[in-house]
Amino acid sequence: MESKKYDVVILGSGMGGLSCGYILAKEGYKVCILEKNRQLGGSLQIFSRDKVLFDTGIHYIGGLSEGQNLNSYFKYLGLMDKIKLKQMDMDGFDHITFRGDPVVYKHAQGYDNFIRVLSEQFPEEKENLVKYCDKIREICAFFPLYNLSEERKDLVMADFLSVDTKAYIESVTSNVKLQNVLAGTNPLYAGAAGKTPLYVHALVVNTYIESSWKCIDGGAQIAKHLSESIRKMGGEIFNYSEASKFHFEESLIKSVELTNGKIIEGKYFISNFDISKTLDMVEPGKIRAAYRNRINSLKNSISSFMLFIVLKENTMKYFNHNIYHHHDDNVWDGINYQPDNWPHGFALFPQASSKNLEYTNGLIAMAYMHYDEVKQWEDTKHVIPNIEDNRGEAYEAFKKDRSERLINIIEARMPGLKDKIKSVYTSTPLTYRDYIGSRDGTMYGVEKDYRDILKTFITPKTKVPNLFLTGQNLNLHGVLGVTVSAVVTCSEIVGQKELMSKINKFVAENS
Ligand SMILES: Cc1cc2nc3c(=O)[nH]c(=O)nc-3n(C[C@H](O)[C@H](O)[C@H](O)COP(=O)(O)OP(=O)(O)OC[C@H]3O[C@@H](n4cnc5c(N)ncnc54)[C@H](O)[C@@H]3O)c2cc1C
Repeated sequence: MESKKYDVVILGSGMGGLSCGYILAKEGYKVCILEKNRQLGGSLQIFSRDKVLFDTGIHYIGGLSEGQNLNSYFKYLGLMDKIKLKQMDMDGFDHITFRGDPVVYKHAQGYDNFIRVLSEQFPEEKENLVKYCDKIREICAFFPLYNLSEERKDLVMADFLSVDTKAYIESVTSNVKLQNVLAGTNPLYAGAAGKTPLYVHALVVNTYIESSWKCIDGGAQIAKHLSESIRKMGGEIFNYSEASKFHFEESLIKSVELTNGKIIEGKYFISNFDISKTLDMVEPGKIRAAYRNRINSLKNSISSFMLFIVLKENTMKYFNHNIYHHHDDNVWDGINYQPDNWPHGFALFPQASSKNLEYTNGLIAMAYMHYDEVKQWEDTKHVIPNIEDNRGEAYEAFKKDRSERLINIIEARMPGLKDKIKSVYTSTPLTYRDYIGSRDGTMYGVEKDYRDILKTFITPKTKVPNLFLTGQNLNLHGVLGVTVSAVVTCSEIVGQKELMSKINKFVAENS
């Protein structure tokens, strides 16, 4: 590997890195992907405990029905006919519930259906629901690559960019319960009141309202198929290859040095991981201090505490929806919890296994967690591939306490759960920090803020002419977000019009 020179060297094999690798290899570039971990895929990774397989960062995907945006991109990426999918419940893929309220509020697939189902529970609100849905679609229509359009638009001019999600929802309806139901899946984008721009809410909820899917047997199959295709097209992928430093020739990066001392040369470099850590690899003087300071001042979105619950075999029927449960009637409060009243709620995702589609043997529960809560153990480092991290007794006690608290509130929502539990595994912000390589275990990368939209709008270009960025820090997180970001990044090398026209031609010929 040392002596080779590549057209494009991609650092990190998350969905963004692999998608870039696929697109550029298909375009004839000699591609090399370097991944620090054993397993490829970043947040697409899976692990298994007591023979039950768990996802780490993909619980459902939207936009995969014929003619929808991710379906088209997945066709182009050679994934659509390979991954095992299960469409979630049409009349309620997400169930939103509140402590003390026995009603289950449902988000349904398809806009008409979404309006119909919620209008049954909020009969006075039909007009407002129509208005809300129209706005979501209007915003989504504004993003060309989200819609596979070859057109270039100046997004900076769009007035909706500087609208706060919570304020917008409150302007659509004065019904407080409905406001909370519409924002009830905000852990999907770490929604923060007075901060999260409406476009983030719109792009995320739209994809799931269009259609919602589970990967049967986990999301790692996406990484498997992408990496196989990249290799078939001549690309090379190396695991256990952690990038540590760039070497320059005048103003351009000539090579990247790995922690094992190997040097990989390339013409273009694309980083798929934490932006500030990427810039740490650039020696002082090669980029302006102002740019570095701007990037270093960006705040990441919150992290999470995860419970991976192995159920006693065949004790729980598989349910084809997710649950978002809130303790308060203000779904925006959960992210601002204090440690003594944690958690304010949870999101719960059942695992779908091809071995047993009738029952689920694995549940994943997710609750917000600030990095500060685990900061005292930040000098410990856990090595992949084990998700269980041993960082000392105090840390184990902390995890046990948080695990019990979370199980208690899930039990209150799902009585009888405790009797069905066989074993429980946990992860904290430190787990995500170490296996994804971010600074703080952030779930979704750079936090977007409607008050300073330009600052949090990251472009793939950096101040180093042959260094580009990709992944969830760019436009949007999530499988769809990073797939679109990969197209944005590759457009800088290939040309957007040319690339989009090829993607559209391929999709048209294969539909
Ligand atoms: C708990 C959780 C739940 C989520 N649920 C969903 C969901 O249900 N649906 C959805 O669509 N999205 C979900 N997401 C978001 C989604 O998983 C991510 O937005 C997306 O996978 C990020 O992809 P990425 O390309 O930015 O790369 P990442 O997945 O962040 O991968 C970065 C890669 O770079 C590697 N790397 C880091 N440093 C180095 C280095 N120095 N050298 C080499 N390699 C390096 C890492 O090991 C990793 O493989 C979830 C995320 C989390 C955390």
